[in-house]
Amino acid sequence: MKAAVYAGPDRVAIEDVAEPRLEEPGDALVRVSLAAICGTDLHFVAGHADMEPGTVLGHEFVGEVVAVGAAVSGIRPGELVLGSDFTACGSCWWCRRGDHWECAERQFFGTGTAFGKALAGAQAEIVRVPRASTVLCPLPPGCPPERAIFVGDTLATGFAAAERGGVGPGDVVVVLGGGAVGQMASLACQAVGAAVVIVVDLVADRRALAAAQGALPATPEEVDSLVRRVTAGRGADVAVDAVGGARVLDAALTVVRPRGTVVSVGAHFDASFALPVRRAFAEELTVRFAIGDAIRLRDRLLPLVATGVIDPTVVVTERVGLSGVPAAYERFARHEATKILIDLE
Ligand SMILES: [Zn+2]
Ligand SMILES: [Zn+2]
Repeated sequence: MKAAVYAGPDRVAIEDVAEPRLEEPGDALVRVSLAAICGTDLHFVAGHADMEPGTVLGHEFVGEVVAVGAAVSGIRPGELVLGSDFTACGSCWWCRRGDHWECAERQFFGTGTAFGKALAGAQAEIVRVPRASTVLCPLPPGCPPERAIFVGDTLATGFAAAERGGVGPGDVVVVLGGGAVGQMASLACQAVGAAVVIVVDLVADRRALAAAQGALPATPEEVDSLVRRVTAGRGADVAVDAVGGARVLDAALTVVRPRGTVVSVGAHFDASFALPVRRAFAEELTVRFAIGDAIRLRDRLLPLVATGVIDPTVVVTERVGLSGVPAAYERFARHEATKILIDLE
């Protein structure tokens, strides 16, 4: 079968790879109809992690179940399903409390061994899904696949920012970063009742998109004065780092008010960070980190996207076929695209 594979630093290729087979009783095989390229994929394609060339990329997908192992329940061949970006057993202490990311059985599709045992990705005609009863869920009737696919990672991540940031009615929230995750965080914060969401980005198109979706746009230079203006000088109730890295986390700490919360859903690769502890102590700041958990959140998010209360497709800038994926990665790396979907049929 054809798949998009990591071909060495900054190189993606379409290759013929062996078709996956059922390996464990809990496995399912899914014929992928729609996949997506994510910022996480870029880190791996750039060669930041130790990933074997030939690894099939991608962890966001919707498709049709074509085979299930003997231990799979709740999922049947022929069903249209949404995949989660990582696997979990569904029954351990962590899974029972809804913390699937901490499950010892975790495998993250298409990212080598960075987050668990290697598992081939979903930018392929067929993907093998371990622990399918937990990892897959049927699409609600009538739910457009191009909306549902966001629940598998990007919207779950944006929603996790609102959830772990404790965003509630009347809050003023600053979202740093207007990429796909930042835009999803903006929509999620609005859905849970934030009064004002300010989205900060250097790229004018991303600010315009945020504005069209109900947020106040700001450049990095504008954000401080805008936040002061809407909060009578206090600072934001919650600041979301939707980019990762020290610079943006610093900026999030700068805009938040005393007793405020900073929540980071951006990826961090530095071993440490200089927390301004004197201010953090004196102003009783809270700093939290969150990773989206589609398995926990999908029951809450699928109705929102199925009904259009949240329409994540507003961030989609292009759809390509599998053959167009290598060039699409290059455009994505140059910030010429916000979100790229891949049609496999
Ligand atoms: Zn992703
Ligand atoms: Zn588990």
